[in-house]
Amino acid sequence: MMKRLVWTLAALMLVCANLMAQRPNREPSRIVVAYVTSNPTVMPDPSRMTHINYAFGHVNDTFNGVRINNESRLHSITALKKDAPWLKVCLSIGGWGSGRFSEMAATDENRKAFAADCARVVAEFDLDGIDLDWEYPTSSAAGISSSPDDTKNFTILVKEIRKAIGPRKLLTMASPSNARFVDFPDVLPYMDFINVMAYDMGRPPRHNAALYRQDEAGNVSPFARGSADRAIQAHLDAGIPKEKLTLGMPLYGHGDRKNYNDYVDFKDMAAPKEGLTEHWDEIARVPYYADAEGKLVLSFDNVRSITEKCQYIKDKGLLGGMYWEYICDNPSGDLTRTIANQLLPKRIVSAQAVRKASYAGNEKRFRALLYYSDKVEEAHSQFANQAVQFFKKLTVGDGWTLDVSKDKLPSDLFAYDVVIMPDVAPGSKSDRARFQEYMENGGGWLGFHGAGYNDASTGWDWFRDFLGGVSFLCNTWPPQPALIEVDGFDHPVTRNLPSRYVAPSTEYYQWQPDPRSNPDIVVLASLARENFPMGLKDVVFGGDFPVVWTNTNYRMVYINMGHGDESFTDATQNLLFINALRWIVSRSPKGDPFQK
Ligand code: ZN
Repeated sequence: MMKRLVWTLAALMLVCANLMAQRPNREPSRIVVAYVTSNPTVMPDPSRMTHINYAFGHVNDTFNGVRINNESRLHSITALKKDAPWLKVCLSIGGWGSGRFSEMAATDENRKAFAADCARVVAEFDLDGIDLDWEYPTSSAAGISSSPDDTKNFTILVKEIRKAIGPRKLLTMASPSNARFVDFPDVLPYMDFINVMAYDMGRPPRHNAALYRQDEAGNVSPFARGSADRAIQAHLDAGIPKEKLTLGMPLYGHGDRKNYNDYVDFKDMAAPKEGLTEHWDEIARVPYYADAEGKLVLSFDNVRSITEKCQYIKDKGLLGGMYWEYICDNPSGDLTRTIANQLLPKRIVSAQAVRKASYAGNEKRFRALLYYSDKVEEAHSQFANQAVQFFKKLTVGDGWTLDVSKDKLPSDLFAYDVVIMPDVAPGSKSDRARFQEYMENGGGWLGFHGAGYNDASTGWDWFRDFLGGVSFLCNTWPPQPALIEVDGFDHPVTRNLPSRYVAPSTEYYQWQPDPRSNPDIVVLASLARENFPMGLKDVVFGGDFPVVWTNTNYRMVYINMGHGDESFTDATQNLLFINALRWIVSRSPKGDPFQK
């Protein structure tokens, strides 16, 4: 018996020794915290992160609970955990300008009620915890109320929330680069980790997020005020151990508000604009664009600076990295992938390959801009507003991106595969010039009704030629339904349409000369002869009457429909609209996105 026991023990020890020998070198388990905001529809790729901070929840109006932006998106974000068991999702409460913290934290009753409501949302939304983003206790810089007692009350609040959500859930917070406003030694026992917002430390002519302010030789960068290194040091000095710190990295830059907007997403940074050049700050370890005099006009981060910041995180032994925010990265994910590759274990990053294959259909196919105006006749504004809804609906499920811009033609048209113009064309000289440049260099245009209107008073010869060399001759009035004859059955825009359909009520323009007389024009639909005479006030008695066409010198379709509130009520006509959009986009100089 004894002998058998010895043998058993020996065998057990052997097994243990084997197990120990086989245990692989564990990769340090660093984390990547991605802020994901409530407005976009794009879904984050969980292989690039371990934590999502959903932004934002807020203190409610009665100071005793939580209000969440876009709850349905939060549900779909937490649903990502099903296929990504490593992923943790927290609700971030606060954000710049998000107030009512001071009032909430001031009384025991409100604090307890708020903490209880945090526990409720954690349970209700299947969350892993709460991230506090009060910017900042005792400060009204963001236009929110504050009190000298905020710091003290914050500590009590943190204890209450911890008590309410329990020890297994995460409680984290965002902290500004100066590490002020919070008694860290008091809150640390209740906090899992602190995200250091090492950005917005300067605006042009200073860097947004320098890594260092000076090098080892003592040379100071002329563009750096604060630095990520100093922000981390400030938090270490405040008594936070390095294992509880993540370094925040911006996926956006700051412009000088002249050459660039204040905030510029990484995805919107093409090559520097004319007259500007890209530089690398050897001391601050970040890139920037400068003008001819060397003045910094855009400060940002790129793959190189992000890689160096990740190396800094590893060298310093920090818990990990954080970034604001996922949607700022470019479509290929250059920055978020870099951060994941630098900091995350291979088992998470390589989950990407599997997901990439099975999620390929979820990649955004293209990007469209809808430009419209309310400062037009009422029936045109009605159509434009319906067009916004119509095209927005077509983006459901994340297939493509639609940006909507009212009265203002965005500066970077080249970011779009197509520009949709319901009932209005660019009016100012500079907008017209930019639109012309865009169209002459591969741009896409889907124009409706009033967008094509031009006459002697328009004073834009290029646009008349663009439309086919035609100007407004006369119109039918009042708006009424019409029998449409579909032309060109071999054309992708009309191939799947019936040869005739009755279009809902609209106003039609007749043109001179006849667009069909221009060899560059392919007519796709016309008014059938049976309609004539058409109109009661303004009567058209006949003649060739094209209503949809393309100028083959450009990537464009003009559609005459678009007056009043009925244009989207016919399924056949809606298909025509969608076909036109699809065809324009399919000929993008970047390649046909529907073939990808
Ligand atoms: Zn009209």
